[in-house]
Amino acid sequence: MKAMKFKVLYAAVFSLLLLSPLLMLVSCESAQAQQTNAIYDLSVYVDGAENKVSVDMTATVINTFKDGLDTLVFAFYPDAFTLKNPPPVDASMMHAAYPHGINAGGYVFMQSGGENVKSASICETPCKIQITLRNPLSLGESTKVTFSYDLTLPLCNARYGYNDFSINLSFFYPQLCRYDKNTQDFVFYDYLSTGDPFVFDVADYSLKLDCPADWQIACSARETDNSNNVRSYSASSLRDLALFIAPEAESTTVSANGYTVNVIHDGSFSYAAQYAADALSIFSESFCELPHKNYSLVFTPFMTGGAEFSNAALISSSLSFTDVEKIVVHEAAHQWWYNLVGSDQVSSPWQDEALAQWSALLYFQKRGMSTYAESLLNGLQSEYVNYVRTQRELGENALCNVMRSTTDYRDFTDYYITVYCKATVAVNVAADSVTAEKFCEALSLYAKRNSGSFAMPDDLFDSLNEYSEGLGSMLKSSFMISPYG
Ligand SMILES: [Zn+2]
Repeated sequence: MKAMKFKVLYAAVFSLLLLSPLLMLVSCESAQAQQTNAIYDLSVYVDGAENKVSVDMTATVINTFKDGLDTLVFAFYPDAFTLKNPPPVDASMMHAAYPHGINAGGYVFMQSGGENVKSASICETPCKIQITLRNPLSLGESTKVTFSYDLTLPLCNARYGYNDFSINLSFFYPQLCRYDKNTQDFVFYDYLSTGDPFVFDVADYSLKLDCPADWQIACSARETDNSNNVRSYSASSLRDLALFIAPEAESTTVSANGYTVNVIHDGSFSYAAQYAADALSIFSESFCELPHKNYSLVFTPFMTGGAEFSNAALISSSLSFTDVEKIVVHEAAHQWWYNLVGSDQVSSPWQDEALAQWSALLYFQKRGMSTYAESLLNGLQSEYVNYVRTQRELGENALCNVMRSTTDYRDFTDYYITVYCKATVAVNVAADSVTAEKFCEALSLYAKRNSGSFAMPDDLFDSLNEYSEGLGSMLKSSFMISPYG
């Protein structure tokens, strides 16, 4: 047995040396990482035949917020899929999200409470769970809140729900909202049909999953045990815990530079594992090394190109061959600009998206595909210019102000053109002013400073300014540049 193990290890090391030179990586770990304020223990049972999920969860909340904390606010996004309100999908994507017709998911809470819980308001405000505590918490004190509930999944190609390939469980549990020390309150956002409403601090997770042994699973946390049809997962410092389940699927694994990428797919996307492994290596060398080494992709029918989660992404299985690499790489970049460095995706959606877009351009440059990177950049610029031109011809005001909240965009196109196209072109203008290599060093400073924490736009501008005087200010002013001068 031992000799066998040695042989396998030797073969793995040898193939690593052959295929990918080991990089000298700098850790992202920061002395300023936030203190953990939530620990989640989940027990999940999946009934694949009925598309139902039962969850028991204990959230231990550690009061790092303020003395006398008497209320906790959790977001519970399965509520958005019950259709009490319009479907949580932009009108332009309704068919892609619900190809079998619009249908509702549901949930039933059997229990919510805890020793120190006086009362629980479950989604009286959509997607919001408010817990009132019996005894207010002093700073440093902790309390436990328990929830037991059943989910009936909607049939849809969204982040949450099921389709004929996978069961997609993201944001499927009550998740403590981020606490803002300035306003001394939790920051709660309703689910949004455009962009991402997910604004959370990192937390520690453990999960037990009861499902058949032959199902393929992608989870944000690392698998620590697998026996008797129960799999255990555990991880610290995750922005969210995503769990994707594919009962009949193939799985492809590639390891490089300490990372292990697992791709779950229908047999057509094994090649994409190498794109993700290359992206993680390139971004680790360019920015800093991630603390988590497991990363999963699930190719599934999906309403957009892809979506990011902690240590995982969903990728649309209907993408063209040429789009797969672009989307896989963009989503991998979110492990730095979302998972590692949190930002307010509602008030500043550009902050993680434009950096992920620019990182994807960097990836193609580093892979020796500069002409392709340039054509992608030119494509983003022309999409923006054409949009502004059309809008002006229609007599519309299309300033495309980048510093807008997701809720201030008038439609998905306005959001897409501003956040993904204009903001990325602006980031590239700033990068070109110092060279891409130096801009990576500046982003590395930003990543290390805010690793495991949360960054506002000024934190990004400040890091850039500190790296090179005026660089952050240049990025901010580049947001104002119009192709019409
Ligand atoms: Zn993105």
